[in-house]
Amino acid sequence: MPDHRKLGRELGLFGTDPLIGAGLPYWLPDGAAVRHALEEYVRAAERAAGYRHVYSPVLGKRELYEISGHWAHYSEDMFPPMNLGGEQLVLRPSLCPHHAVIYRSRSRSHRELPLRIAELGPMYRSELSGVLGGLTRVRAIQLNDAHIFCTVDQVADEARGALELIGRAYRAMDISPVRHRLSLPGAGGKYAAAPEDWRRATGMLRGVLEELGLPYEEGAGEAAFYGPKIDVQVADAAGRESTLSTVQVDFLQPERFRLAYVGPDGRRHRPVMVHRSVVGSVERAVAHLLEAHGGAFPPWLAPLQVAVLPVGDAEEPQALALAARCAELGLRAEVFGAERGSLGARVREARLVPYQAVIGPREAAAGQVALRLRDGRRLAPRPAGEVLDRVRALAGAHRPWLWEDGDEVAGRAGREPGQS
Ligand SMILES: [Zn+2]
Repeated sequence: MPDHRKLGRELGLFGTDPLIGAGLPYWLPDGAAVRHALEEYVRAAERAAGYRHVYSPVLGKRELYEISGHWAHYSEDMFPPMNLGGEQLVLRPSLCPHHAVIYRSRSRSHRELPLRIAELGPMYRSELSGVLGGLTRVRAIQLNDAHIFCTVDQVADEARGALELIGRAYRAMDISPVRHRLSLPGAGGKYAAAPEDWRRATGMLRGVLEELGLPYEEGAGEAAFYGPKIDVQVADAAGRESTLSTVQVDFLQPERFRLAYVGPDGRRHRPVMVHRSVVGSVERAVAHLLEAHGGAFPPWLAPLQVAVLPVGDAEEPQALALAARCAELGLRAEVFGAERGSLGARVREARLVPYQAVIGPREAAAGQVALRLRDGRRLAPRPAGEVLDRVRALAGAHRPWLWEDGDEVAGRAGREPGQS
């Protein structure tokens, strides 16, 4: 498994500059295309699962984090406050407090619960410069986060739903976790909330893991300060484990923010907050995808989805027209023209691109393309429109594979267009 930093450089996905600062990577157009595809997938999957999206600011007053408990339990990881007109503002270390405030922006009825609020938004962590590098240790993080405000009775269903959403996303991204971890408090006073709440929340998460038949290990000292969590662990190129996705049960923050809903009895009750992330941070997710696939992303995530290869200069107009058609269909395509070398050299250059559309004289005359798949399979020439419709359908459905099984795929020894 290659290192994501090396792959990111070679493939031109992201970079850093000392003038911007360590741990503050920028995304180049190809990296931004991957990130955009991933973010849009997550938003669509969340919408389908009943989440509503919000935007909240990256700054908040120090008091906000004093109430949430971040200031007391997490300030070592936070940027120092900025003084402004007698107030102190901080870059947020998480999205939870903002979402709690959004929840209490008006009164809530039990009929609204479970209320699922999601956001793909930035947060900041004051990592020391000595440990920074690539996309896995960064100071600016784009977090895929959501908070489900629900009754105690709804927690198990919501935690299960979140784990199922995570499972579907991993299948689409074609990655697997190395383990599920039930993260519990360890020694030391950094864990807030009453012991009884911890036991209750832990029991709920354990029940969900067992109901889903997911093997898990327990990790003492790995919990969030406000509650236990299920962590979905992945391994990097060096075998180091990290948490990509998470589901957490929190009784503490609803208490601290005095959240309430009006129950069927007409009285005010305290909701529970389930924190969950499907792909974790976008940075960590892309780093893991890069390493897991060696840069050969599933078609829907690939920076470039279709490489158009005219056999010679004569087929250039048809190649340009095909690339333009791809763009109209929302597919990312580029022409690898004859000036870039022999057809074989261009096929090698485009080896990470899922689809290579080869156009020789015969295909050009007939409005066809001969499609090569990244894994070496070749399809007999067929109408260009039909090929693009199939590619678009697979990418649109977030399929992790290159082609649906069928009899039209020839072996690796198929004829190259332009040969006879
Ligand atoms: Zn949260």
